[in-house]
Amino acid sequence: MEEYLEKYRSVVGEAVIHHLLQLARPLQGIKVVHVNSTREGGGVAEILRSLVPLKQALGLEVNWEVISGNPEFYECTKKIHNSLQGNRISISQSMLKNYEGINKENYERLKDVLENADFVFIHDPQPAPLLYHCTNRKGRWIWRCHIDASRPYRPVWRYLKNFVSFYDASIWSLSSFAQVLPHPMYLIPPSIDPLSEKNIDLDQAEIESAYERWNIDPHRPIISQISRFDRFKDPLGVIETYRMVKEFLPVQLILAGSGATDDPEGVEVLEEVRVAQRDDPDIHILLLPPDAHRSINALQRISDIILQKSIREGFGLTVTEAMWKEKPVLGGDTGGVRIQVFNHHTGFLVNTPEGAALRIRFLLRHRNRLKEMGKKAKEFVRDNFLITRDLREHLTLMLAISHGATDRIEIG
Ligand code: UDP
Repeated sequence: MEEYLEKYRSVVGEAVIHHLLQLARPLQGIKVVHVNSTREGGGVAEILRSLVPLKQALGLEVNWEVISGNPEFYECTKKIHNSLQGNRISISQSMLKNYEGINKENYERLKDVLENADFVFIHDPQPAPLLYHCTNRKGRWIWRCHIDASRPYRPVWRYLKNFVSFYDASIWSLSSFAQVLPHPMYLIPPSIDPLSEKNIDLDQAEIESAYERWNIDPHRPIISQISRFDRFKDPLGVIETYRMVKEFLPVQLILAGSGATDDPEGVEVLEEVRVAQRDDPDIHILLLPPDAHRSINALQRISDIILQKSIREGFGLTVTEAMWKEKPVLGGDTGGVRIQVFNHHTGFLVNTPEGAALRIRFLLRHRNRLKEMGKKAKEFVRDNFLITRDLREHLTLMLAISHGATDRIEIG
């Protein structure tokens, strides 16, 4: 399996691969389980799809398990998600009972693998109560929060805290997201896989086939936002931005997305987007299947500028993906976007449609700046947000936790 890792050598360099092999040596054969709530759609699934096989390639025994629930469960977890991101939402007792019950059912189904693991990584709030049922825990349990929980709605956070306090550690994407918990807390920003279908280099013919396929004019500028249809991603603000630019330049807008199976709000938001489109043929709303990774790759590559106009954003893998393709990103001035988009260098941070429109007009009129920003953006991702860095930090974390309070860990 080491050949699997070898492929990354040309992207990240010899030293990085060597370091990974060294860190993985003391972890050979340990059992690791990752649990989240969807295999397709959204950033968590995207990361696990690459992180799991890479850990396996390094000699760890890794399983990826997905919990499942009824519609009421997903409705509840979406509410928890939105309230952690700051919305004041009250969740009924019966809905919470259902949330806990579904977790109990999933625990029974996954009992063997969870009880025998050395490390269990539980992603986000959906499966957080699983630990409550594990009275016989052998391994270390780590809660990985991917959400911008910097200003959560307190009653909901207090409820969730009852479950996550009992974990051995937690991981957050940014320090400002972390809430006080009685265990070690680690910072690990997410990452993209440069060799996945989503990010790998495509040949020109494949990139250009996107024009015909989606009926897009190759001779006019293209701005895009590729995201789940979610209010926090502000797709309506993107349309407003596009309309302001359109008064001056003949731009086209691509809004591409698909539903995540654990996101029940998507249909409603998509409907709002369709209404706002008002039959404008230059607004392309593309509803993609969950495995449309190469299509998204091509859409990002044909775009001149990528928007991620989020109002809250845990990290924004779409930002990283666009930057890797040398595209300047206009990102909402929030959460994880801020550690990727360095204003005036790798893109622009924006707060309003007016601000975003102004920056788009500037970049489309100053192609040199656009190119230069795109190049900086790619190198910034290479240095900070590739999966190999994420992997290294996961290995380090497992080593640190297994050695308790030891000051010095010999890894040979
Ligand atoms: N994505 C996708 N299909 C879509 C829309 C998004 O595969 O139609 C991917 C996108 O390329 C990115 C991930 O889903 O890899 C979204 O992660 P992000 O962190 O941007 O946002 P989240 O959806 O987790 O809030």
